[in-house]
Amino acid sequence: MTANAQDEPEVFAPADIWSEDYINMIFPWAPANDMDRQFKEYHTYETTKDLMLQLEQENPDIFEFHEGLLGGTNARGETVTADTYEGWKYSHSSPWMKITGDVGGGEYNEFVGDSGNYADRHDVLIVGNHHAREWMSYEVVLMQLEVIAFSYDNIGYDNDGDGLVDEDPWGDANNDGILDDDGDCLSLDSEFQDSNKDGNPCGPGDLGVDEDYSEQFITDLINTREIYLVPMLNVDGNIYDREVFCPAPAWESCPSGGWRKNLRDNGPDLLPDFNEEVDEDCDGVDLNRNYQFEWGAPLGATVPLIPGTCTPSEDERAGIANNDVYTGPYDTQDNDGDGFINEDNVDGEDDDNDGRTDEDWAGGNSEPETRFIQDLTEMNDDVGDGASEFKSTLTHHSYSELILYPWGHCTDCETTDHDQLVYHGSKMAEMTDYTNMQSSDLYPTTGDFCDWHYGVHDSYCYTSEIGTAFHQNEVDIDHIAVRNLGTGFYITEIADNPRERADLGIANISKNQFIQMPEMVNVPSKGFIPVDMCVANGFSYSLEQSVSHVMYRTVKPNRAQSDYGPKEWSTTAWSMAPFEGTSSTCTLLNGENGTVIRSNLPIPDTISGEVHYKAMLGTLGGGDMYLYPANGDYYVLTIEYRADYGTFGGALFMFLIVASFVWGGLAICLRMMLTDEEEKEFMDALIEEDGS
Ligand SMILES: [Zn+2]
Repeated sequence: MTANAQDEPEVFAPADIWSEDYINMIFPWAPANDMDRQFKEYHTYETTKDLMLQLEQENPDIFEFHEGLLGGTNARGETVTADTYEGWKYSHSSPWMKITGDVGGGEYNEFVGDSGNYADRHDVLIVGNHHAREWMSYEVVLMQLEVIAFSYDNIGYDNDGDGLVDEDPWGDANNDGILDDDGDCLSLDSEFQDSNKDGNPCGPGDLGVDEDYSEQFITDLINTREIYLVPMLNVDGNIYDREVFCPAPAWESCPSGGWRKNLRDNGPDLLPDFNEEVDEDCDGVDLNRNYQFEWGAPLGATVPLIPGTCTPSEDERAGIANNDVYTGPYDTQDNDGDGFINEDNVDGEDDDNDGRTDEDWAGGNSEPETRFIQDLTEMNDDVGDGASEFKSTLTHHSYSELILYPWGHCTDCETTDHDQLVYHGSKMAEMTDYTNMQSSDLYPTTGDFCDWHYGVHDSYCYTSEIGTAFHQNEVDIDHIAVRNLGTGFYITEIADNPRERADLGIANISKNQFIQMPEMVNVPSKGFIPVDMCVANGFSYSLEQSVSHVMYRTVKPNRAQSDYGPKEWSTTAWSMAPFEGTSSTCTLLNGENGTVIRSNLPIPDTISGEVHYKAMLGTLGGGDMYLYPANGDYYVLTIEYRADYGTFGGALFMFLIVASFVWGGLAICLRMMLTDEEEKEFMDALIEEDGS
């Protein structure tokens, strides 16, 4: 073996590694000439809706299309009808998709109008296009829809055509500080490493970075979460921006501007305004200043001094008549019927000391679009406890390449969940190579979506500011959408208990736990096969089988199936075995002591072949989907008839030890997924090395 020749780094061109489609960002879910589904052109309101209807039709098991809400009596006792949520001018309600496994099952919510409500599934809300001109903010959501439709139950798809599957999930999955987990982008000649030309070689959005995520992981998410996807909240504004305000192409007519607000008629005529034209100097409300929490504070200048108008007065602030951050009108009603008006604004405090909190708001949620979000949030109560189901929320905006977390309304202030919010924000910033910061450090706001969701509904809420322009040139849609794809799945993953997930992540607890790898499993000559997990003492695991269990299946490859992988085996069903507690201790990956929990797999003695297994753990705090091994992978334990096991286990043992030395933890999981042929090559290399 000539070591020098092997150490010479080999550099590749994209065509040496990947499929032609992947190199050209031709996505597998649509024909190459379908320009908007290929993310080479922007969707419009019409094509957005058409796409959603088509995806619903093709995937009726997981997608349910909706527009607005049906209405009824809402959480604050108001009677509302479906037309409450229709835009002022064009009369469309925001289209949205309910996504979960067996979406036609579960409970039906007669106010929201959706099926697929399950008390044990975690709900997440993802919203694009609060601001009309921020077009990438809904393209990213539509790409997430396409990816879900394509990936669900399509296990083991090779996204980049390199012969490997699921080898590079979002973010730095193996914690080595490098995003390109499989190193394929880094193996390119340097001239090819910055395919999106953002100046960052092998960064997010470049070919070969986070490009082969796990379809099993996405499928698991869909089956354990209820996702509410609202790609285009501000339909009125978007139509106006596209068709009137910014003549096509918008990136040339409105390089740094465009229409931001909705189309509320603020005058100059008193309502109803018989002049049907939009008055661009005055009309519209900034939907992301129209939520009720701390509405009107601290930027008084964006609140009208004359109720019902956007014109503050004849004073020095008259220059803001065309106020792009107009909050909407003051509320003029006595919401609680006590004879006072606006005496207890929504801020989590009992401002008037009457024993009730936030019962007479000063303004906010005055618009069809924000009322839709408010009622969807407050009426989606699967467990009937009066609280919103959305424990995590994400809203996409553009632009600035930021991830923002609350608060937005105050400066020099922190939420009580500051460290935890920073933690998840940093994960999403890592996936996108964006900057993670507190919203008010960018600029203070009032009445924004995330302050309301976090402040009123205790939801971990993030704002992503996508890209580098409001109307990004259409040639940049595909790679910017790819770069931002991971955040929508991340926020979905943490929807079970984001606070607990952050605590476990900050303390490095969950990732130091492990399930026994195949060579550690002691296969008895007959009876159950015990598989142990080593759990940290700070991890409050649940033994409830629905959230903590080993998934296993047995397969017996024949000669023709010897190179079967996850894709080929994907239709073979998994069984579930519970864990039981033990008094044994174990050593966690960080060297600390942990506790053993054990699952006894009921594998018949007569079976030979492969046992596939993986664990999913849940916590007493309601967390679930802690996956071992990570990322939707599984381990393969090869067993002969039990009596023969010893010999075979020895060979497997040697292979795995070497694998862990060469690649480290995550790579072992990945290596387990490789075809037998690759495995054989590896074994051959090992033998060669031994012989030299
Ligand atoms: Zn925005």
